[in-house]
Amino acid sequence: MSLDNTSQPSVKYCADKVNSKYIHGRPGPELVPSRYALKVGEIDVMVVSDGVLSLPGAMLGHNVDPAVRAAWLEDMFLPPDVLEWALNVVVVRSGGRTILIDAGMGAEFPDLPRAGRTVQRLEAAGIDLASVTDVVLTHLHMDHVGGLLVDGVRDRLRPDLRVHLAAAETKFWESPDFSHVSMPPGFPDALRRTAKRFLHEYQSQLRTFEEKHEVAPGVLVTRTGGHTPGHSVVRLASGSDRLTFAGDAVFQVGFEHPDWYNGFEHDPEEAARVRVRLLRELAANRESLVATHLSFPSVCHVAVAGDVFRWVPGPWEY
Ligand SMILES: [Zn+2]
Repeated sequence: MSLDNTSQPSVKYCADKVNSKYIHGRPGPELVPSRYALKVGEIDVMVVSDGVLSLPGAMLGHNVDPAVRAAWLEDMFLPPDVLEWALNVVVVRSGGRTILIDAGMGAEFPDLPRAGRTVQRLEAAGIDLASVTDVVLTHLHMDHVGGLLVDGVRDRLRPDLRVHLAAAETKFWESPDFSHVSMPPGFPDALRRTAKRFLHEYQSQLRTFEEKHEVAPGVLVTRTGGHTPGHSVVRLASGSDRLTFAGDAVFQVGFEHPDWYNGFEHDPEEAARVRVRLLRELAANRESLVATHLSFPSVCHVAVAGDVFRWVPGPWEY
């Protein structure tokens, strides 16, 4: 049963609220850092920020008492009803291939104007779209594929680009089930429309896999399901170094409250199981974690804390 019986505010309300009061000293468009590079053994990794999404706080956990959610947001120095989500994509270079993992929001939802900067920020990082040999998509939600639908982008990508995606994900969007989600107004329609358009425009470049696929040496994409049936994570391994890009399997609140149902999860019970399994594994083998919606650059570790987990941010090495 969902405890969330409040109606959700619009995304525009959220953006205006957080911008007007809670985040201070925000500089002009590109004065903020937007990329962070690191090595995983021989593999080059760069986290690039697509921007920030301001979304209703109810998205944090729609199986939770609103007062409990509000208290958590207060602890995070955020308004009681609005959550700021980072939006990260990753570029990986291994074995002569340049792999873009997810592509940000693009221009798919105009009320989220602080997101959609992936292409511009890749350029600022000296990464030419024509140099990308592979795209890996964790899933087909618009904040992960929208950047590939921006006007002119497809023409600038190579004709032999390979787009890797779980077969279960393409199947899901033929007739997607939204009965277990809890999203802001306008989102379900926008998500359906974007996924459909993406599958149509990139059909000839899709390379689907069932459970896992090695995209390049040490770059393994693995289906988890949960968030969406084809949701996948990317495991990087080189020498003794390991890093996992978890996509939407882990959100900020998920360390402390892994059993809170995120509003975008199409199968929230399974998503919670996936989250707990992954966090346990990352805590046990001490590998690095990067995730789409953890604060940029999001490179962190996971520790076990009783029945739940503790987020351990990595040092900013500049
Ligand atoms: Zn997402």
